[in-house]
Order: sequence, then C-alpha cells, then structure tokens
Amino acid sequence: MDRKRRRPLKDKQTPALPGRGQNGNTAEQGASSNSFQPRVIQPAAVTASIIDGKAVARAVEQEVAAAISRLGFHPGLVAVRVGNDPASEIYVRNKAKKARELGLEGTELIFDETMSERELLAEIERLNRDNAVDGILVQLPLPKHIDSRNVIDAIDPAKDVDGFHPINNGLLHLGRPTLVPCTPAGCIRLIESTGETIEGKHAVVIGRSDIVGKPVAALLLQRNATVTICHSRTRHLAAIAAVADILVAAIGKARFVTAEMIKPGAIVIDVGINRVDGKLAGDVDFEAAKSVAGWITPVPGGVGPMTIAMLMKNTVTAAERRRG
Ligand code: NAP
Repeated sequence: MDRKRRRPLKDKQTPALPGRGQNGNTAEQGASSNSFQPRVIQPAAVTASIIDGKAVARAVEQEVAAAISRLGFHPGLVAVRVGNDPASEIYVRNKAKKARELGLEGTELIFDETMSERELLAEIERLNRDNAVDGILVQLPLPKHIDSRNVIDAIDPAKDVDGFHPINNGLLHLGRPTLVPCTPAGCIRLIESTGETIEGKHAVVIGRSDIVGKPVAALLLQRNATVTICHSRTRHLAAIAAVADILVAAIGKARFVTAEMIKPGAIVIDVGINRVDGKLAGDVDFEAAKSVAGWITPVPGGVGPMTIAMLMKNTVTAAERRRG
C-alpha cells in the first residue's frame, strides 16, 4: 500500500519603528532598583507601542523573495507530517501556503499514523541525499511510537531548517553561525524592529524549553544582553521579571505575566499561544501590560507570524550555503 501522498507546496520592508514607545519611555527608564517593589499601576496612564509581527514578517518575506531571485533557482522545502493531528495539519498547510507564495519549491509528505520509526528514518535519509531538497522539517508532535529525538538527529544538519538538530543547537550556544530555531529568531527580529539596542540590557526569559526559551536566551546573550532564564522552579520570579529591560514570556500559561511584573518602558515579547474561552491569549496580560511596557507584541499578530517567515528565511539560507 502506498501510504505516501506527495503534494507540491505550491499552492514590504517594515517601516523602521521609532526608537521609543508612545509613552516616551525607553527600556532604560523606569525602575532602576534591583529589588522588587510592588507598584501601583495607574490605569491607562501610558500606552506601549505595539510591535506589529505581521508587518515585520512581511519584511522578512520580502527579503526571502529577493534572495530567491538572486539565487536563480527555487530552494526546495519538504514538510513531513505523520498522522492526522489537527493542529499539525493547519501548521503544515500554512507553511506550505507561504512557501508557495514566496516561490519556494515545496513538497508536503503526509504519512499514515502507523508508519514505523524505521520507515520514517529511511524517508529522512532519502531526503538528505536528494540534492534538490534544501530544507527538511518534521512537524511535531510525532505519534507516540516514534522517538522524535531519533528523527531530528537523522536530519542532515545542513537541511535542518527548524534548527533543532543537536549540532545546530551546539553551534548556536557556541555563538557560531548556524540555522537558528524559527520562533526564537523571530523574537530577536521583533526586538530589533523597535530600534532599541539589545547590548547591555537585562533580558529575562521566562521558559527554558529547547525550542523557545533556551535558544532565545542564547541569541540575546550573543547580542551582549545580560540574560536571566526563569522556569517553574525559579524563586522570586515576579521580582526578577520586574527588573527586565527585555522580557520574553514563553511559558504556555495564559496571562501569567501581569502588569506588576513589567518594568516601565520594557520591551515585552509574548511567545505564548493559549486558548481561553475559544479565543487566543498570550502568556502576558496584554491589556494591563500595555499601560506599563514601552513596547509589546500582541497575541495574535506578534510572534506567531514570525515563525513561518523565519522558516522560509532558514530554507533560503540553507540553499545559499549548500549550492548558492
Ligand atoms: P514548554 O516546552 O511547555 O515550556 C514551558 C516553559 O515554561 C518551561 O521551561 C517551564 O518550566 C516554564 N514554566 C511553566 N510553568 C511555569 C511557571 N508557573 N513559572 C515559571 N515557568 C514556568 O513550552 P514551549 O514549547 O517553550 O512554548 C511556550 C509557549 O509558547 C506555548 O504557549 C506555546 O504554544 C508557545 N509557542 C508559540 C510559538 C509561536 O510560533 N508563536 C512557537 C512555539 C511555542 P520548567 O522547564 O521548569 O518546566
């Protein structure tokens, strides 16, 4: 039985944002003390500038399209999905759609839920050998009988456009050029879009996952921020967050970060995607936080659109490095 269906994926520079929030705060302003002192937040006293993830993503996409026309060939991206997880279906479809829009040569490989790990590894090996394939992504989660670590480890690091392979991960933490995980790379791009410098600032990352928290922290460190990583065992988390010039929330708990946990004027990047009463909510209490922060990403429309854009960018980078 042929369990494999192949489908072709074919299916504006961001205006420079001003260097400070509408409230005139910069991230340097506000609480300078290292001790946590509860503040009374004046309702709607100030309003943060909203970081427009859709606009920044469009700018990245324009760069991708320009890079493809310079290359003179269409980089190949293969998205692999095993089983019928509804969220994975949407993610892979959206990636495919965007790839087609930007002129990438794409293939979506969909395999039956019953595919064995050995069969999947053989498929990855085939893609590794295919010179027309520049980027391979395997949509997670995989069915329980497949160890996703073995699958990620099997992808050629030069084609690992999700940036999850241990070699790429190691290079990232060594501060060397590599394919960087897409969501963290998107977070950095959003911070840079504010026009604020990262160097010397205190960045606090809440969350230490391999796919978001740790790589974001590594990228901030590379840019000479002073980085603190918080997690579920961190003591005095609110106090630590409240002295952050840059606060990245990647927790997976709706509205976990309250206004009191934000330093006035801080740049707040909300990675969280949570569903509350059928609506999307971030890890930050956006409505309250925007009266304290200098800059803030909304959910939806912040980090989300960046992830796919950075995936396309990684595919082009991989193509340039392999056969540019
Ligand atoms: P994850 O693997 O579940 O990691 C969550 C992290 O948050 C862990 O490090 C955990 O600490 C920490 N945490 C949990 N509860 C905490 C608490 N009460 N206090 C402090 N830290 C706590 O999640 P993830 O994959 O990093 O994703 C995080 C969020 O980002 C999710 O909402 C996810 O949907 C979203 N996301 C969005 C995108 C996008 O494209 N926008 C991409 C990826 C993820 P421990 O390590 O101690 O358990």
